[in-house]
Amino acid sequence: MFDLLIKDGTVITVDSSHMVYPRGYVAVKDGTIAGIGPMEELPPENMAKKVIDAEGLAVMPGLIDGHGHGGHCLIKNLGDHYEDWDNMAEEIYFRYTDDFFWYAEGALAAAERVKFGITTGVSMIGSTPRPDGLESLEAHFEGALKTGIRELSGIGFCDGPWPKRPIRYENGMGVEKELTPMQVVENTERAVKELNGRNSRQMCIVAPGNITPWGDDTREFSAWKNREMARIAREYGVAFHTHARAGGIEFAYETTPELLTPTTSLTHSTGLSEKEIKILAETGAAVFHGPTTRANINVRCPVYEILRAGGEVVIVTDGTAPDRSYDIWRDMKVFQVIHRLHEHNDRLAPPGRVLEMCTIRAARALGIDKITGSLEKGKSADIIIIDTMQPHLQPFGVLPEARLVYHAQGGDVMTSIIEGQVVMENRRLLLCDEKKIISDARKAQSELFERLGEERVRKYTSYPGLYELEAETVR
Ligand SMILES: [Zn+2]
Repeated sequence: MFDLLIKDGTVITVDSSHMVYPRGYVAVKDGTIAGIGPMEELPPENMAKKVIDAEGLAVMPGLIDGHGHGGHCLIKNLGDHYEDWDNMAEEIYFRYTDDFFWYAEGALAAAERVKFGITTGVSMIGSTPRPDGLESLEAHFEGALKTGIRELSGIGFCDGPWPKRPIRYENGMGVEKELTPMQVVENTERAVKELNGRNSRQMCIVAPGNITPWGDDTREFSAWKNREMARIAREYGVAFHTHARAGGIEFAYETTPELLTPTTSLTHSTGLSEKEIKILAETGAAVFHGPTTRANINVRCPVYEILRAGGEVVIVTDGTAPDRSYDIWRDMKVFQVIHRLHEHNDRLAPPGRVLEMCTIRAARALGIDKITGSLEKGKSADIIIIDTMQPHLQPFGVLPEARLVYHAQGGDVMTSIIEGQVVMENRRLLLCDEKKIISDARKAQSELFERLGEERVRKYTSYPGLYELEAETVR
């Protein structure tokens, strides 16, 4: 007897043979896909505790969002045109947040992701991470996991000058502490040791802010940071996840080549040289490309050059501040448009490849492709069902991958299943109270604003030139 049977759907497997069953089933037992195939092959005596009739609907693997930031959902739109947004974000995260902030944001972000069909999410804790302790990360995990999502989160080195002076709040009182680079190494290692695998959906990874040397940092110091981060990822067998920009990949290749592996994910990777493109192809390190990010707007990520050289590229949201969404369906579409536009070639980025970039290819780069990323027997039952019985998706059936990538949006996902557990059904989250998640998020933001004080909030929420051709820079 199966625990769950999804029947009569258009099943898009995203497996290596790109199999699609126009009328297919997926059977689940003990959290795992126990059977998948055309309806004719479903033996009639097979019973299930729960049956989902997916007639006319699309059934596909849960999406993987390979990059986002813990904290960002509560500072969205703040300082949108602030001159130094990164420093603003770091100041907020390091000096004005408490554990409740990280908990409430973690839950809100995961709820947003699950409702858009993301069953696995990756989050760096902070803008570049806040690594002065494990509390922010633990609170983030606690919030996120309430929704049932599979969450890969982590800390590591933050960018910028040392020492850092984070403030920890307890009972409303803030206490400033000094944070040294050595403490970051200790905390990152402790996080992976203590938090990874607390349950099957909680994966603690190593996630430093960048591998590219920062400002005045010496090459020796930057290489030491990278070496320590790579060592922790290797020793504990977890993914290494970070940002990179021009020069960073070559720097890592010269100083810490062990850092560049097929389970290394390098978000942005903008402005890369030809040499760096070759290094990516040689080492298999994957580019986690956020097509809608400011990083990619300001300096281009040479996506097709990387792909043609044999490198790996995954699509991510980089959710959600200051101006993005966890609706990864938007990123799929934008990805196609910007790369087609760049090369004036409307054949680039066909829909099947784009789907892989948010499922199996992302899973591979994170080292979790044996668990998730495609619908195959023996894999975790991470499945989404899309409500295709809507005007913008009908008539549905011909080229289903194209119909979904070109026309679907996050709100069309009606059911999300993770490890065989239905976490959203008919757009209602089942494991948590969505109203409470929203009220907690509102409370956490208003408490953040109180700590920030009126003047800062006024600065961060101002937007001179909102209706002009070009917004003014805010200082
Ligand atoms: Zn990012």
